[in-house]
Amino acid sequence: MNVINSYISPGIARWKRKGASIKYLKKSAISIPAIFLKSTKKTKNLFLIASGFHLEETSGPIYLLDSNQSYSNLKKILKFSNIVLLPVVNQRGLKYKETDSDNYLRYNDRGINYNTRWGSSSEKCVEVTLIEKYIIQLFAKYNIVFVLSLHEDSTEFKKGYLWMNSLDLKIRNLIQNYVKNRISPKILRRLRKIGLRQGFIENNFTIVDSKDDSFENFTSAILGIPTLISEAPFGLSLTQRIFFHKTVLNSIPFKKILNTH
Ligand SMILES: [Zn+2]
Repeated sequence: MNVINSYISPGIARWKRKGASIKYLKKSAISIPAIFLKSTKKTKNLFLIASGFHLEETSGPIYLLDSNQSYSNLKKILKFSNIVLLPVVNQRGLKYKETDSDNYLRYNDRGINYNTRWGSSSEKCVEVTLIEKYIIQLFAKYNIVFVLSLHEDSTEFKKGYLWMNSLDLKIRNLIQNYVKNRISPKILRRLRKIGLRQGFIENNFTIVDSKDDSFENFTSAILGIPTLISEAPFGLSLTQRIFFHKTVLNSIPFKKILNTH
């Protein structure tokens, strides 16, 4: 069993006590929790945060499920926006230990990666179909102002970095400077040049506008929503990885983004 499991029921119960409404996206045995936090202001703005595509990457799901850690960072955003959390996209990987093979943690039983085929008509994971449908419903009803996605990169051991899609240079620089001032340059680095898929590296730790068939490409290139990915440093402690996500969340310049939106 994946360690993330132990955070799900208590995490959801705690979010309910904080006033969140919980919806489950269901098909046969699959049930994906979506946590809706209502803005204190009447607004259609919505901020979407997703994680748990690859379940060897435990810090994103744990951070989002553990409101004792994330609520203080989200509370200020509720003053001008609703928030939806999708803490665990991949439901199959929950059955396996976070140290098990990639085949169980990153792919479904037909060998399809959980962060591929988003927005495509080819065969994809059931969870992807359910979440695409849910996001399209949200997209019709709300003004989705920003998407944040939380990952870790196991091929970049102990390094953390960012991806940014559909963000203009000014916003990218504000985020980069905020993160650079708080995370050690020893950690903040993208080493590999492969897998950039038409994107480019900025300031040594940000991949900009890479094109693929990921969730993040779906929200940015297909739906046109500014999208940021936090790749926490795989191999460092859970506290350090959660600190990375927290810093990236706090770096988002919502005031500037809402003015230019
Ligand atoms: Zn990942």
